[in-house]
Amino acid sequence: MVYDFHTHTSLSDGVLSPIELIRRAAVNNYAAIALTDHAATGTMERIIRETIEVCALARSYWNILAIPGIELTHLPVQAIAETAKRAKELGALIVVVHGETIIEPVEKGTNLAALQSPHVDLLSHPGLLTLEEAQLAAVNGIFLEISARKGHSLTNGLIASLAQRAGAKLLLNSDAHSEQDLLTESLADAIIHGAGLDDGACYQIRNVNPQALIEKLPAQL
Ligand SMILES: [Zn+2]
Ligand SMILES: [Zn+2]
Repeated sequence: MVYDFHTHTSLSDGVLSPIELIRRAAVNNYAAIALTDHAATGTMERIIRETIEVCALARSYWNILAIPGIELTHLPVQAIAETAKRAKELGALIVVVHGETIIEPVEKGTNLAALQSPHVDLLSHPGLLTLEEAQLAAVNGIFLEISARKGHSLTNGLIASLAQRAGAKLLLNSDAHSEQDLLTESLADAIIHGAGLDDGACYQIRNVNPQALIEKLPAQL
């Protein structure tokens, strides 16, 4: 089974419509997929509303847990906490903050602001994470991401080792922008092992941690 908590659709810069991405994921043997389109204040309300609707439709007819979420992307650092809170109020069940990947000029302090917010569930592609930040993720129960995405994945090894030292929980996500980016079981295993992690950690990341995140979601899902 594959779990994936970070994907994009035509509601932001992804290629497929939300329902087609979910369909493709179901065919790829996904157990769960979160739709987390890029947003900032202004676009967020519409995206969350439409994502909630399409995820509900997919869940009622197909055997896949489609989860409405959002990825807060390139926000001013000072606006992250308030916007994450608002996203949860609007019904986003998974709030991702687009972390300080080394291939984009994300504002410095984004990782720290995300890891201090009780409304953030996952820090995506954190780039040059520090041990202190990994420790904060562990204490606050915020997941750190191992990324399957080209460029963002350059620091996977660092994220993996710091998370292990700090006891922070990792998730592997596709950050898919099209159907070719979706995960398979063998690709997921290879990326995790490629970050220097062993079989035990791989099982944790692919099975235990996804279940822990799903358990935090409302029971009616
Ligand atoms: Zn994108
Ligand atoms: Zn993303």
